[in-house]
Amino acid sequence: MHISNLNELFVNELRDILSAENQLVKALPKMAKGATSEELRTGFENHLEQTKTHVLRLHQIFEALGLTARAKTCEAMKGLVKEGSEILEMDCECDVKDAALIAAAQKVEHYEIATYGTLITWAQLMHNTEAASLLSQTLAEEKETDGQLTELAESSINAAAV
Ligand code: FE
Ligand code: FE
Repeated sequence: MHISNLNELFVNELRDILSAENQLVKALPKMAKGATSEELRTGFENHLEQTKTHVLRLHQIFEALGLTARAKTCEAMKGLVKEGSEILEMDCECDVKDAALIAAAQKVEHYEIATYGTLITWAQLMHNTEAASLLSQTLAEEKETDGQLTELAESSINAAAV
């Protein structure tokens, strides 16, 4: 990988998160199907719709940069999704499985939050206000989702798992 300036680093990271979001569009329906709690299932379904918007926003950013929206396999998300599918194969009490699914989903959200935070900082440094604004909208939704998952875990699901 040869990267010589911040713009190239920015584009490289955009390609990584595009791959991550694409992987999530495929994984979230499976997570929803595997959830026992109705609230958790609805949460995954809602975040799937948001995730499709995250992909669209990234496409908008690539377009504004005059680049093709080409993803570069995000190995980190591949690993996180793999951990999620291992949970889906778990043969255990449903409440415990829900608790495990929340844990896996929060790891995903935290990866996204870290990446979008970085991308926003870089976009601002390069005075790309349009990209910074689009990325900030997505970051807000990732944070909101993370908060909702925490609420679900604290309110009912983990207690049921105990
Ligand atoms: Fe996302
Ligand atoms: Fe997300």
